[in-house]
Amino acid sequence: KETLDQGLEKSREGFFEKISKAVVGKSTVDEEVLDNLEEVLIASDVGASTTIKIIERIEQRVARDKYVSTEELNRILREEITALLLENPHQNSGNIDQSKKPYVIMVVGVNGVGKTTTIGKLAHQFKKEGKSVVLGAADTFRAAAVDQLVIWSERVGVPIVKQSMGSDPASVAFDTVQSAQAQGADIAIIDTAGRLHNKVNLMNELSKIKRVMQKVLPDAPHEILLVLDGSTGQNAFEQARQFTAATEVSALAVTKLDGTAKGGVVIGISDQFQIPVKYIGVGEKMEDLQLFNGAEFVDSFFK
Ligand code: GDP
Repeated sequence: KETLDQGLEKSREGFFEKISKAVVGKSTVDEEVLDNLEEVLIASDVGASTTIKIIERIEQRVARDKYVSTEELNRILREEITALLLENPHQNSGNIDQSKKPYVIMVVGVNGVGKTTTIGKLAHQFKKEGKSVVLGAADTFRAAAVDQLVIWSERVGVPIVKQSMGSDPASVAFDTVQSAQAQGADIAIIDTAGRLHNKVNLMNELSKIKRVMQKVLPDAPHEILLVLDGSTGQNAFEQARQFTAATEVSALAVTKLDGTAKGGVVIGISDQFQIPVKYIGVGEKMEDLQLFNGAEFVDSFFK
């Protein structure tokens, strides 16, 4: 909780200050206050359609031209945003399905968003919970990606499956699932290349990886985790659009929320895609990954 509060400091400061400004000197919630609020939400990267939704909900709650203090408006806003997050039907669906062994997580996302770091953090977290983890370096297009993942595997102390550069990602995925199964590991986490410049390529590549790993384990992957950089605002929305069109993304991880004042992106993405935000990244260290909890998040945001 402390890490979360710290991680969201920038978002919170910006947000609270701006909301206060939106209502300062106002004795009623009128058109202008609502317009100002709308601007604050847009500036926090909540996204246009979600912002409109939130404003409408506030309008419904606050009888027009009635006096509402900053505190009250804050409380209403907080309640409505929490409600919105909880409306994502799969939100807070918990951690991993332990009846699957190995539980296979395929991690997708564009380069630079924090994919490798998130995989390392996840491995650390699972290991701390007493689960055994195997990593798979199926981003065979970048030497640096494999190297980084090897460093994480050493840091965390979990085995990694890799092949030489340029080898077939699907073959690495196959080996990883097979190795995890042979070792009786609880979880396999597989990194993939996130090259977006060609949508058809991406789609084919991801479905091939899936198809090939299913030769070992027919119901794998059990989770397709899309990693998004929370500090990139509208780019994150765009990437979510592209990846959800290319494959069946089942969970999201939003990273780098500590470095941005635009943490509202989590609210918009959860609302627009109706895919659970499962993890949030709030720092570069091993411990700086959290299971997302909508109520706690909003709490931290408004503190
Ligand atoms: P990849 O190319 O997607 O695998 O990205 P990396 O995992 O290599 O991360 C890119 C950079 O973002 C690295 O410098 C990471 O330390 C940094 N990073 C990743 N997640 C977070 C986060 O939650 N907060 C902060 N501040 N930095 C992060």
